[in-house]
Amino acid sequence: MASTSLTLSPDILDYVRSVGCREPEILAQLRRETQTMTQGVMQISPEQGAFMRLLILLSGAKRCLEVGTFTGYSALVTAQSLPEDGTLVCCDVSEEWTAIAQRYWREAGVADKIDLRIHPAVETLDTLIAEGRSGTFDFAFIDADKVSYDFYYERCLTLLRPGGLIAVDNVLWGGAVTDLKDQSADTVALRALNAKIAGDNRVDHCLTTIGDGLTLARKRH
Ligand code: CA
Repeated sequence: MASTSLTLSPDILDYVRSVGCREPEILAQLRRETQTMTQGVMQISPEQGAFMRLLILLSGAKRCLEVGTFTGYSALVTAQSLPEDGTLVCCDVSEEWTAIAQRYWREAGVADKIDLRIHPAVETLDTLIAEGRSGTFDFAFIDADKVSYDFYYERCLTLLRPGGLIAVDNVLWGGAVTDLKDQSADTVALRALNAKIAGDNRVDHCLTTIGDGLTLARKRH
């Protein structure tokens, strides 16, 4: 769903992509390779990548966390936006998908910034907390299995420093969140998390309609 927009016509979306963002060639190559896969729709769009790059640059983030890496597009955007001493912890369970990611990270010269952990993300996040890294991350991107989103949100909130930012992807789920006949586990989980964040006084937030819906939640001091 990342390559479509709920609000823009195809013509306007093409226009946005032509003048509204710049996609470096290596990211374009990774996009093309990923689009040949049946799961290619899981990749974030170029304009969402540019938006996330700006968020990282504007916030001055150095310690980043990603839950759900797939073929590594958003991680590559993040790593390329970090300063020299910036680091990114990536959580994924797929050796196959992240092998593609690692090839591009090496080619882009950012592999040394990325700590890829191939385990269920629930375990990796609890491990990071056990390692004493609570309150140390500046930015977290959540884009993995939707039924575990609430768990990821809570753990990321623990791991973020006050003032740190969480970005939660696919929160509109192709519009399914408004279709109350849709009681699938993924949709129910997203609907519940969206409602929870709306009333969560631990964060300031905004659900942006970029891509398939991207909620930004900044941890309060
Ligand atoms: Ca996504």
